[in-house]
Amino acid sequence: MKKKETEVLREKFWEKYTLDQLNSSEWEALCDGCGKCCLVKLEDEDKIFLTNIACTQIDLRNCKCQNYDKRTKLVKNCMSLTKKNLKINLKWLPYTCSYKLVSDKKSLPPWHHLITKDRDTVHQLGFSIKNNCIHETKVEEKNMRSYIIAEIGT
Ligand code: SF4
Ligand code: SF4
Repeated sequence: MKKKETEVLREKFWEKYTLDQLNSSEWEALCDGCGKCCLVKLEDEDKIFLTNIACTQIDLRNCKCQNYDKRTKLVKNCMSLTKKNLKINLKWLPYTCSYKLVSDKKSLPPWHHLITKDRDTVHQLGFSIKNNCIHETKVEEKNMRSYIIAEIGT
């Protein structure tokens, strides 16, 4: 069956086009699968803190969302990045996030699957949350502050 135009990944699209110019397949493919945007954030007055607690919906064996299509319904604060909301969400994203890098006209890192052709490289080289976080189901809400790893968004 002939592929639709929007399903084609153009060669080196992340270098040649702006985020606004990406088709839907390219937009999805840009994600490195690190899972860092799925870590729980805590707000305290005007400050926002990042924890190493991973969202209830994530599968920590592969850092993938288990309910991707329903994610925004299931998790109130799920970012669900789109071309429209990217700008307001940039401050929540890690500096390694591919959307942030391309938005800043920077290169993708050498471990990105679009470079290595292997979606496991991000995990193998330790750039994902795999083996670096705890699942939200294992943490009591009153203890979440003790999992803070950084202050962000201020
Ligand atoms: S931080 Fe960025 S690159 Fe990593 S999983 Fe989230 S959206 Fe994808
Ligand atoms: S619901 Fe959102 S934050 Fe939670 S794992 Fe899925 S994509 Fe990540």
